[in-house]
Amino acid sequence: MMSNGKVVYMDNNATTRIAPEVLEAMQPYLTEYYGNPSSMHTFGGQVGRAVETARAQVAELLGAEPSEIIFTSCGTESDSTAILSALQTYPDKRHVIKTKVEHPAVKNLCENLDKLTGQQHRITRLGVAADGTLNLDSYKAALADDTAVVSAMWANNETGVLFPVEEMAAMAKERGILFHSDAVQAVGKVPINMKKNQIDFLSLSGHKLHAPKGIGVLYVRKKTPFVTFLHGGHQEKGRRGGTENVASIVGLGKACELAGKMMAEENTRVRALRDKLEHGLLSSIPKAILNGHAELRLPNTSNISFEYVEGEAILLHMNRHNICASSGSACTSGSLEPSHVLRAMGVPFTAAHGSIRFSLSIYNTEEEVDFVLAKMPEIIANLRAMSPFWQG
Ligand SMILES: *Cc1c(COP(=O)(O)O)cnc(C)c1O
Repeated sequence: MMSNGKVVYMDNNATTRIAPEVLEAMQPYLTEYYGNPSSMHTFGGQVGRAVETARAQVAELLGAEPSEIIFTSCGTESDSTAILSALQTYPDKRHVIKTKVEHPAVKNLCENLDKLTGQQHRITRLGVAADGTLNLDSYKAALADDTAVVSAMWANNETGVLFPVEEMAAMAKERGILFHSDAVQAVGKVPINMKKNQIDFLSLSGHKLHAPKGIGVLYVRKKTPFVTFLHGGHQEKGRRGGTENVASIVGLGKACELAGKMMAEENTRVRALRDKLEHGLLSSIPKAILNGHAELRLPNTSNISFEYVEGEAILLHMNRHNICASSGSACTSGSLEPSHVLRAMGVPFTAAHGSIRFSLSIYNTEEEVDFVLAKMPEIIANLRAMSPFWQG
């Protein structure tokens, strides 16, 4: 445990802490300003104005128009809405292109499309290289006359690897194909300017950028055809029913404003901390391997495999020191399955099982990195001493 007794939180791609400024901005909308933004009275109207301020703050971060911002309940809802909208826009086109490393929000929607719509879909799952990057030639070859939509993430949540989504969107546009990008991990970490690309739909989620859980955004480009997913009241100009989650919307707006200001620090100080952690682990621990392209990557993420040990065992030992991270294997039905992302990259089983994702944020300190660097070699060495496969 750190001498100050605090947890060392390096699991920011799973969720982030709410920024104090965000909480402060939200508080009045959980107490005195409880009106319904759709109400005719002034009391509700002032709440409606707060929602519009937040919409402008989100739009500003993305280089978008406020009218292109739809508030949703989460990143998952945004992903589903975009893909299902595209399929309803083109009822005669049943081909969907995605990558093999999409978040479960896209992956599992696509696996269930036939059941959901009662129609047959053809799904192309684009593979990735060993470093997690995407090959544009195979993408181009997959674009077809019956392709309704492409869904490709901006940045991968497990490895941080970036995809050339702007280039991909331009190629889709030439063929009249709609393009969706899950940018949940990219927003606030890399610059995004929707005026400079042709992406039709973009998803983001509040709790990945220091706003609360349970609030998301779907960006829909002006003039891109859109079909509502949640039918209901006339909220969000009829594009998403349901009374607005006002406090969280206000919080997300504030978080976007902060993210714009902190992006430089994210790419300098946080990146330097990540690099120090990564270089330290790779040099002090034998048979430690970086997963994912070293440069084409988010500044906060480092996914490292420690060969011949189980990721979940590593996490348990890290947990004893109050260090939080994630592993690339999930315990499903009693057997340890390496993540679909590492499998798509062809990471060998001995390495995929022992992968740990460290994901930092602006709240991490150098002292914390030094603490993790001091603990990890011993944790790995102790586990390997018990492993029948390790011949160190
Ligand atoms: C977290 C995450 C999501 C899901 O967002 P929720 O708001 O938790 O539904 C989708 N895509 C990526 C890449 C994510 O990291």
